Amino acid sequence: MYIAPRLQDMQRSGIREIGELAGRLDDVVRLEIGEPDLDTPPHIIEAAHDAASRGMTHYAPNTGLPELREALADKVTSVNGVAAGPDDVIVTNGAVQGLFSVLTSIVSRGDDVLLPNPGWPNYRMMADILGIEARGYRIDVLTGQPDLDHLASLVTPRTRALVLNSPSNPLGTVIEAAGLAALHAFAEHHDLWIVSDEVYDQLVFTGEHTAAGSLEARPERVISVYSFSKTYAMTGWRVGYVVSPPALHPTLAKLQEPIISCVNTPAQFAALAALTGPQECVRVGVETYRERARSVGGMLGDAGIGYTEPAGGFYLWLDVGERNGQEVARALVAHHGVAVAPGPTFGSAGRHAIRVALANSDLELTRGVQRLVGSGLL
Ligand code: PLP
Repeated sequence: MYIAPRLQDMQRSGIREIGELAGRLDDVVRLEIGEPDLDTPPHIIEAAHDAASRGMTHYAPNTGLPELREALADKVTSVNGVAAGPDDVIVTNGAVQGLFSVLTSIVSRGDDVLLPNPGWPNYRMMADILGIEARGYRIDVLTGQPDLDHLASLVTPRTRALVLNSPSNPLGTVIEAAGLAALHAFAEHHDLWIVSDEVYDQLVFTGEHTAAGSLEARPERVISVYSFSKTYAMTGWRVGYVVSPPALHPTLAKLQEPIISCVNTPAQFAALAALTGPQECVRVGVETYRERARSVGGMLGDAGIGYTEPAGGFYLWLDVGERNGQEVARALVAHHGVAVAPGPTFGSAGRHAIRVALANSDLELTRGVQRLVGSGLL
């Protein structure tokens, strides 16, 4: 039977290969996955339970519960400085679906988009599904600042969007306000959408995160994508949200029906409790990842291993010298009992790199880093 060739040809994320290898072996320290090890706070779980008990188990409106959209508009306005009302917000099935719906709405087959290199592999996979070309723009892996000259050289008449990700997965770097302003001017000059993936917006431990949408008095060119996954340790609940300019909103809203209809209703009540309840868990998350970045960075530094100093997120990007990052990751899991994400899966700029996730217990991180250092591969 016929199966779409472009999907059969689509490359899987290289992280999965390492994860599968790790799953077949005993005693592997898992540092490849970008998933908080912290638990969802109890008051959030209770809110979902309570909603389900009250019979809130039916479809919600396509764009999300009105009270949640209201709370989200307040959040992006007060926390991110993005001027938005409830009508600018759509609740999505995680940032993944938010990003996919956004890209689906702003491209046609044969168009192209500008993606960070190194960058999160799912952007490229989404481009493959949509039949558009992914053009990777260089980022300085030590500072996280995009190379504007390189960006300019990649623009074609069919370029529709510039995708930004700050704080960055995999680098952990943030784009400074001045850099963002330059990127906004660039997008304006070439009449591009800015799709700003800000799922790590509240996991910043050095300096400040500037939201791309805060550069506009009202959303016009910037589409902002956020998530509950990382901020509230809610990856499995699948709740994210998109703040979009009014011109795009009706298209995104229409897309919800055939793609997901709505986000799981009890999960939306959980998200509402996350936003309106105590924010202590966010502070604890930030402190935890900051401290882990400091201690793991110290161990790596003592061993003479180069890495990018993260300002946020929960990753460390390590330099593996002349070696190929995929081969190093394979050897680490097969012979040294530690799984890491291979750099090349984040784009050509990751050829000689690996990514270590800090989203694991201190004990496991110490064991894993000792194995990395002891492997002699870095
Ligand atoms: N964007 C980036 C940069 C990510 O790293 C991730 C998850 O790893 C996501 C989006 C997806 O987030 P969600 O769980 O909300 O779909």
